[in-house]
Amino acid sequence: MHYDVIIIGAGPAGLSTALHLLRHSPEWGERLLVLEKAVHPRFKLCGGAVTRLGLETLRGLDFPLPLPLEQFFVKEVRLKYQRHMVTLPGKPQLVIFNRADLDAYLAQQAKARGIQLREGEEVKEITISSNGVSLCTPQAQYFAQVVVGADGANGITRRYTRHKTAKARLARTLEVLQAAPKAPSLLQDAAALFDFSLLKEGLQGYVWDFPFYQQNAVALNRGIYDARLDRSKPLPPLPNLFRAAFSDSQSAVHPPWRSHPIHWFSPRNRFAYPRLLLVGEVAGVDPLFGEGIGPALAYGQVAAQAITEAFERQDFSFSTYRARLRNSYLGRYLMTRWFTAEVSYRLAGQGWFPPLVWHLGKLLAGLFPPPDLFLPPQG
Ligand SMILES: Cc1cc2nc3c(=O)[nH]c(=O)nc-3n(C[C@H](O)[C@H](O)[C@H](O)COP(=O)(O)OP(=O)(O)OC[C@H]3O[C@@H](n4cnc5c(N)ncnc54)[C@H](O)[C@@H]3O)c2cc1C
Repeated sequence: MHYDVIIIGAGPAGLSTALHLLRHSPEWGERLLVLEKAVHPRFKLCGGAVTRLGLETLRGLDFPLPLPLEQFFVKEVRLKYQRHMVTLPGKPQLVIFNRADLDAYLAQQAKARGIQLREGEEVKEITISSNGVSLCTPQAQYFAQVVVGADGANGITRRYTRHKTAKARLARTLEVLQAAPKAPSLLQDAAALFDFSLLKEGLQGYVWDFPFYQQNAVALNRGIYDARLDRSKPLPPLPNLFRAAFSDSQSAVHPPWRSHPIHWFSPRNRFAYPRLLLVGEVAGVDPLFGEGIGPALAYGQVAAQAITEAFERQDFSFSTYRARLRNSYLGRYLMTRWFTAEVSYRLAGQGWFPPLVWHLGKLLAGLFPPPDLFLPPQG
């Protein structure tokens, strides 16, 4: 079966790429296929917190805001370092979804708009030649002019390209979903907590505590993120730190928790190969917080522009994709996060550094309150 473009993976990056292509021209409904190994709604280990970047990208694709899904509006993000706290108010700052529901909704919308999506079909083999790309699944063999790798940190695209990549830039995470006490204080305050106190124990990241809704009930999504940006430092014992962070009996976390890597953005990453474009976590997401949903959605817009231009010019080298990404809003967003992560996580071990950042943070948070996300954009 022949298509112009095949997208591997129907997560936020793959679906957004498909939806942006379709928005460019309805013809893409015929020319494009998305292959997804799971069947939506599928489990994905994730905090489910979506920032303004992700929601604005969805608005640009004509999704209604707020999305018609169960969600928790975070009106206060709390960034903690020991006894220092920076609070970032917002209307809202973040929206927390049940991740399986969010992706299933996006997939259902993509199909309703005319995207061909085959679920339960795993790409097992990729072969790229100068004439095109061949993909094998247990069900069929496919040929395409261009393939988009949108299959996440552990997908076949990263395995296919890994030997061509100098260095894997992977963060470690642990996450547990648990029933909430009757009325968790974070829920009452409409708040989400990012606690960086473990920087002093060598963690290059934070512990999070998010309330969210799961089948009409309040649950807690808790996890620990370690960017492992500075690999010269010793590996901190993640399970011990995680347990210690929630050590009081009211909020204790119990195994089994689950673990999944996050492939993060660095300007030194490879983003494309001839006939193969990387998006979302295959390309790299935010190393500072491990934010991936918003960036994955935003990659879709940049990739769709690159694909449209490639077909217009009949040039499938994607040699300008890096520059296109760098000059995009997403590129600047990821560069800022990467630079901040590089500086912060390398200097975090110096006792004076985190308090200084928190004092500065307090000052800046008061100066730049974000606009109301759910008001229609001006102009
Ligand atoms: C513990 C944890 C917590 C996180 N919390 C947050 C958070 O709160 N907010 C946030 O913004 N980000 C968070 N992230 C990051 C975020 O989950 C990812 O960055 C984001 O999902 C990336 O989207 P994607 O579309 O690139 O990949 P994915 O969402 O991973 O989607 C890839 C898709 O490809 C499919 N696939 C894989 N292999 C194949 C194959 N061979 N053939 C066909 N299909 C295939 C998969 O089934 C999947 O549906 C978290 C990550 C982790 C690990």
